[in-house]
Amino acid sequence: TLRKLLVRRHFLSRGRSRRACDVIHHKYDVIVVGGGHAGTEAAAAATRVGAKTLLITQKIETIGALSCNPSLGGVGKGQLVKEVDALDGLMGRAGDYSGIHFSILNRSKGPAVWGPRAQLDRGRYREFIQSQLLNMPRLTVIEGSVEDLIVSAPDPEKPGKHSVTGVRMAGGVGDILASSIVITTGTFLSGSLFMGQTTSPGGRLGEPPSCTGLSHSLREVLGLKLGRLRTGTPPRIIKDTVDFSLAELHLPDPRPTPFSFINKHTHCKAEDQLPCHLTYTTPGVEEVVRESLHVNSHIQQDTKGPRYCPSIESRVLRFPGRQHQVWLEPEGLTSDLVYPQGLSMTMPPELQLRLLREIPALHRVEIRTPGYGVQYDFVCPIQLSPWLQVKCSQGLFLAGQINGTTGYEEAAAQGLWAGVNAGRTALSLPPLSLSRTESYIGVMIDDLVSRGVTEPYRMFTSRAEFRTSLRPDNADLRLTLRGFEEVGCVSSERYSEAVRVSHSLSEALTSLQSFTLSAPCWREKLQYSGISETKSTLISGEEMLQHKEVSFEMLASIFPEIFAQYLEFSQRIKIEAVYRPHCENQKREMERIQVEESLMLPPDIDYRSLPVSLSDEVREVLDRARPDTLGAAIRLPGVTPAAIVHLLNYVSKTE
Ligand code: FAD
Repeated sequence: TLRKLLVRRHFLSRGRSRRACDVIHHKYDVIVVGGGHAGTEAAAAATRVGAKTLLITQKIETIGALSCNPSLGGVGKGQLVKEVDALDGLMGRAGDYSGIHFSILNRSKGPAVWGPRAQLDRGRYREFIQSQLLNMPRLTVIEGSVEDLIVSAPDPEKPGKHSVTGVRMAGGVGDILASSIVITTGTFLSGSLFMGQTTSPGGRLGEPPSCTGLSHSLREVLGLKLGRLRTGTPPRIIKDTVDFSLAELHLPDPRPTPFSFINKHTHCKAEDQLPCHLTYTTPGVEEVVRESLHVNSHIQQDTKGPRYCPSIESRVLRFPGRQHQVWLEPEGLTSDLVYPQGLSMTMPPELQLRLLREIPALHRVEIRTPGYGVQYDFVCPIQLSPWLQVKCSQGLFLAGQINGTTGYEEAAAQGLWAGVNAGRTALSLPPLSLSRTESYIGVMIDDLVSRGVTEPYRMFTSRAEFRTSLRPDNADLRLTLRGFEEVGCVSSERYSEAVRVSHSLSEALTSLQSFTLSAPCWREKLQYSGISETKSTLISGEEMLQHKEVSFEMLASIFPEIFAQYLEFSQRIKIEAVYRPHCENQKREMERIQVEESLMLPPDIDYRSLPVSLSDEVREVLDRARPDTLGAAIRLPGVTPAAIVHLLNYVSKTE
């Protein structure tokens, strides 16, 4: 049914796109440019907050395409997927629909840093995202390319702020107007593809780059600073030509855990999941890399490459003589392709084949599409506000790889938040930001806008100061309630479910705290000897759960009349009980920081002549970055704690 619906809607939208003139001269609340992971979440979120939205993308059939790895989540990235889902985004549900191998990474560590992850079926992922987008009320999707922005001169009442009022379509189709524009052009902005010694314009293999007018407007008209980044992708290999018996078998979790808080099960049954395999590079791989350097322009330009998704060339050159891991990942339930993760490469195709065949499990492998590299423009994100609006503009928002990040999850999370704010601004509602104390999305946006990037930014749990509070299991409690009550991007059904969960959890924890027994009594009831012999005070159920060996199911089976009603939430109750003491300490610290962080710095503040004691260097940093809040100023490299105290005193006095 989904497929039929999709096909019908697809042609409907293609029809609309062929009549792009239908939307010309219309005025939308929001236009989203680009239907990648950032663009789809942006369009969906703007629509959810009530804005009449238009999504313009080069090809409707590539909406929801996974350009590189067929996987979602992981450590840090999995937290982003859960948060996007908690704010009613699409990504988590798409993962549940298309996942074919689910696992929780980092299980040996605490649940705060568990990484929900899944291998995906590419076709199914696209299918889900397209079926959702093409059926959304208030959202129109058209196929086409945006050539330029329509920018009017700065408003005399708001000096220095250009108004971006619409987009110009390529091919002379015409202009489309909107109150807010979100640009999410990914790797397409002045994109160049690299394979061997060949360089050609492109955003992805077989797809043209974004028109140069867009880069020109951003750089020359709005005066934004742009940089250049690079990434790459491995060849896709034919499954039947891989000798899996020469690789290590890695099975998925026996019970797949859904990403989405509203899904009880994943679409793929546990027994239908596919395995992954692990193998390693050999000295022969290193030899091919070295021999091919003179015909590999991408690596010649920068041997380091991106730190977090390095090519096999840069891995070998940086760490010679080492064995490097290569994961052989399925591309889909029925796909005849395998994705060799770890073997992103840009040498000529015939040498790619030679390199692959140096690995025993790939000794007779065949390639379907070769690997390649891509270089593209990004906008230095320090020029954005915490709600992802370009500071020197009215109405322009950026999200995704264009802001210097890498990865689907990072793109989707920014897209969602930019879409929310583009929609709110268009509807004359104040923009909102997410604090780093409440979400990984807040951590990422704050890192981007206050520190900028020098290499593609990827999420890790180590970036979050409050990671024991920002857990994947509690993203709904952190974000769904606010998402409904304040932001307006969450459906009432999801909200009701989050309220139910929140009430049940707090009820269960209160029962556990008030239910006390003596140590000998617990020892006897649970047949558990892990309680200190010398403990003479009463011990609560919650304290008992803080013992690793004691589960909530054990308590519920002994005292069913009190606890059995909460069995549905066993794992969440256990995690809450274990983390509560630590989270309470963190909460106090977070409250202090939130007050400090949210102190707004006046937008017209003249740092160069501010009558306080600041060094010239600090004045220059503040003037360049123009932080919106004291929190953002604190994180600017070069801004000293003493400077912050002076700034705080000045702002408090002038308020
Ligand atoms: P994209 O997914 O790139 O989507 C951009 C969209 O904008 C496309 O649909 C495009 O058609 C559309 N568009 C562009 N210009 C216009 C225009 N002018 N008008 C209308 N529509 C337009 N990520 C990793 O995490 N690890 C990796 O190893 C990795 N390797 C990659 C290798 C390659 C070759 C590529 C291309 C990407 C790689 N990525 C990798 C990045 C990952 O694909 C992106 O991080 C993610 O897709 C970014 O999402 P996005 O929405 O910002 O952009």
